[in-house]
Amino acid sequence: MDLALLQALSEADAIAASEQEVRAILLAEAAKYHKEVRFDGLGSVLIRVNESNGPKVMVCAHMDEVGFIVRSVTREGAIEVLPVGNVRMAARTLQPVRITTRHGLKIPGLLDGESKGETVDNLRVDIGAKSADEVFAAGIDAGDRVTFDTPFQTLPQGRVMGKAFDDRLGCYLLITLLRELHNTPLPCELWLVASSSEEVGLRGGQTAARAVNPDLALVLDTACWGKNFDYSNANHRQTGAGPMLVLCDKTLIAPPKLTAWIEEVADTLGIALQKDMFSNGGTDGGAIHLTGTGIPSVVLGPPTRHGHCAASIADLKDISQTGELLVALATRLDRERVNHLTNFSDEPLLNGELNANH
Ligand SMILES: [Zn+2]
Repeated sequence: MDLALLQALSEADAIAASEQEVRAILLAEAAKYHKEVRFDGLGSVLIRVNESNGPKVMVCAHMDEVGFIVRSVTREGAIEVLPVGNVRMAARTLQPVRITTRHGLKIPGLLDGESKGETVDNLRVDIGAKSADEVFAAGIDAGDRVTFDTPFQTLPQGRVMGKAFDDRLGCYLLITLLRELHNTPLPCELWLVASSSEEVGLRGGQTAARAVNPDLALVLDTACWGKNFDYSNANHRQTGAGPMLVLCDKTLIAPPKLTAWIEEVADTLGIALQKDMFSNGGTDGGAIHLTGTGIPSVVLGPPTRHGHCAASIADLKDISQTGELLVALATRLDRERVNHLTNFSDEPLLNGELNANH
């Protein structure tokens, strides 16, 4: 594990449409290995790992994190902000945050909001200013981005804590794939896509998929369980229990043939998978799989504890196992495999015979 890279990704500040700090890390990696890089119109980064006549495989993770954007400044010096993405209500009061100005200055402050029943609104950041003039003099203006001010830290037993693990863990895995496979002959043409603006409605996944036009997509994302210390069978997002394979969420039901194959590959590697279902929400997979005439897609990734708030906790073993699984998948995804996944005429029926039409 490259903890310095994970730390850099976690501590980079990137809300939807302002992902330059994460993009810079990815571009530096792509340059290191002399890979072709393209962008979609929203700023998603498309890295081509190799050239091949095989099927196009897109591995996608989103760059943006949930955060806030400066809306206005009051006469008294309060900085009014709006959430960008679904920041948990509990994470909207008394949180250390930092404002990134348009000139790249980082200004710490304390976020607070007013609780009204279930919701928290009237969000304001306090930087100690006593007037709007003091705020503007600090270089802050409407449109500046605001993110949680959380340092990356290692915890006992090979665990880590930091902000933006959703989905910088996925971005970390993209870079892992690049480093592992940059010089490996592959049966597919591999595209690593770091998408823009997932947290505000699966936007970059959609536009990047149109740009790449893949035959198959593997989407990397994370999720946490509502109850943090639940080790029952109900919790398929237990940290340290292996990568999640998401069978379905609100926006995508993964093709059973594809998930069965991934389970098979994980089995040969001795990696236990947690078969998860998102009861609410979706991922870029929801947008990607509807591109063109439809793209077989599945979501997988390391689970986390705590999400859409100031910090998450992850287990390094889940991250490295997800990486190992991805490498194995990318080296096995050939034309025959993809053809099989998209052939709906040779499926056995319940009696074991082939479809009667054939
Ligand atoms: Zn996510």
